[in-house]
Amino acid sequence: MEQMITCISCPVGCRMTVTLSDSGEFLSVTGNTCPRGARYAKQECTAPERMITAVIPVRGSDTPLSVKTRTPVPKALIFPIMEKLRETEVSAPAAIGDVILPDVLGTGVDIIATRNLP
Ligand code: SF4
Repeated sequence: MEQMITCISCPVGCRMTVTLSDSGEFLSVTGNTCPRGARYAKQECTAPERMITAVIPVRGSDTPLSVKTRTPVPKALIFPIMEKLRETEVSAPAAIGDVILPDVLGTGVDIIATRNLP
């Protein structure tokens, strides 16, 4: 079976056609203009991942702290991780890159601060 996807690895946005076996195994890709596109196509069609960005409340402040996953996480875990972040609150101070939630939901990926919190 064939699947059309757009590469999001750079602003060019190549449209690619991915061929998968009946069992969903990656077979080939066309339309990519560089190897990054091929890697993205294989990842996206077999084990899609996304970065997560969010804001979480800060105790005693009206200004939330912006956070993100240090690396992409499995797409299927976006909502469980967002739910975990909804339950999370931090206290000042924090600095960019500080680990706010280590190994979120056992993914091996930390949630880190993306701004300084004096
Ligand atoms: S295939 Fe290469 S050139 Fe095309 S969007 Fe992806 S990274 Fe950019």
